[in-house]
Amino acid sequence: ALELRLQKEEASKAQLTPSKDINQDKRVKATFVTLARNSELKELIKAIRQVEDRFNHKFNYDWVFLNDVEFTQEFIDHTSAMTSGNTKYGLIPKEHWSYPDFIDLDKAAKARQKMKEEKIIYGDSESYRHMCRFESGFFWQNELLDEYDWYWRVEPGIQIYCDIDYDVFKFMEDNNKVYGFTISIHEFLATIPTLWEHTKKFIKENPQYIAEDNFMDFISNDGGESYNLCHFWSNFEIANLNFWRSEAYRKYFEYLDSTGGFFYERWGDAPVHSIAVSLFLPKEKIHYFHDVGYNHGVYHQCPLNTQFRYDHKCLCNPDNDFTFRGYSCGKQYYNVMGLEKPIEWSKYQ
Ligand code: GDP
Ligand code: MN
Repeated sequence: ALELRLQKEEASKAQLTPSKDINQDKRVKATFVTLARNSELKELIKAIRQVEDRFNHKFNYDWVFLNDVEFTQEFIDHTSAMTSGNTKYGLIPKEHWSYPDFIDLDKAAKARQKMKEEKIIYGDSESYRHMCRFESGFFWQNELLDEYDWYWRVEPGIQIYCDIDYDVFKFMEDNNKVYGFTISIHEFLATIPTLWEHTKKFIKENPQYIAEDNFMDFISNDGGESYNLCHFWSNFEIANLNFWRSEAYRKYFEYLDSTGGFFYERWGDAPVHSIAVSLFLPKEKIHYFHDVGYNHGVYHQCPLNTQFRYDHKCLCNPDNDFTFRGYSCGKQYYNVMGLEKPIEWSKYQ
C-alpha cells in the first residue's frame, strides 16, 4: 500500500510538471508589468528573455507594457516576439503623468536646482519625479491591469540568475501573501526629508488603517518616531494589486500627493510602497523571495547555499550578494521578522 501511495505521489508530482494546458486552470490572475521608454528596448528584451527562460516559459503569464508616450512598432513587435503570454500596450493617461494643478512650478524648479547642486541622484530630473509618482499612485489604476490581481514588476536591464520552477503568483496566493521583494536597502535621506513627518501625521489622523501585527519595526528603530530609511527595492515587486486599490493606500497616496512632496522633494515609489506595506499589512503578508537570484544596477541577490545554486542553475557569485552587506536592510528584515538567517550569512557580510 505504501508503495502504491508513493507511486501515486510520484504521478501527481509528475502532473505538476508545467505544461501550457495542464496549468491553464491553476493559473491565478497575474501579469508582468513594465514601465519603459522606447529607447530602453534593447535592455528590456534582455530582461524579458531571462524572465521567460527562468520562469515564464513554463507559465505563460501575460505582460503589460506602459509608457508616457506611444510605443514604437519596433518596441511592440520585439517585446511580443520575446514573451510567451499575451502582451498589452498602454499609453499612460495625462492625469497620471503631469503636474497636479496645485503644484507651484516655480517652487518645484527651485527644488530641482537645489538638488542638482547637492548632487542628489536624479535630483534635477522632472521625468524621474513623474515616474516615481506614477509608480506610487497610478500604475495600479491603469485599466489594462483591471483584470488582474497580481503583478510582477520588471525593469529593463534586470537579470534573473536562477531557475524559478514554481508558480510565484500561485505561491503568493496560496500562502496569503500580499507583497514580495528581493532586495532591501536604505534610502537617501535628502530625497525624502519630510516624508516621515507627513506619514506620522497621516497615521495620527487615520489610526484605523494601521495593521495590528504590522512591520513598523522594519522601518523604524524607535517605535515610529523616526524613519530608518529601510525600504524594499521596488524595481522588483511581486504583489497584489488589491493592496494599492485599498482605501488605506489610496488615502495615504492622496494625502502624500497633496503635500507636493513628489515634486518639491524627490520621493521614490520604493519608500512610499514600503512604508505603506509595513504599516497597513500584518507582517506575515510580506514575503522575501530569498530564492530569486536577481540583479538591478549595482546590487545583486545571489542565493548563498551552494547546493541551491547548483540545483537551480544559478549564474551568479554569492560574494556579490547584497543581503547582509552594510547598506542593505537584510539583517533588519530577518531580525524583525523573527527569521533564522541562512547558515552561510556571516561569511557574506
Ligand atoms: P532607477 O531604477 O531608480 O535608476 O530608475 P529607472 O531609470 O530604472 O526608472 C524606473 C523605471 O521607470 C524603469 O522601468 C524605466 O524604464 C521607467 N522610466 C523611467 N523614466 C521613464 C520615462 O520618462 N518614461 C517611461 N516611459 N518610463 C520611464
Ligand atoms: Mn531601474
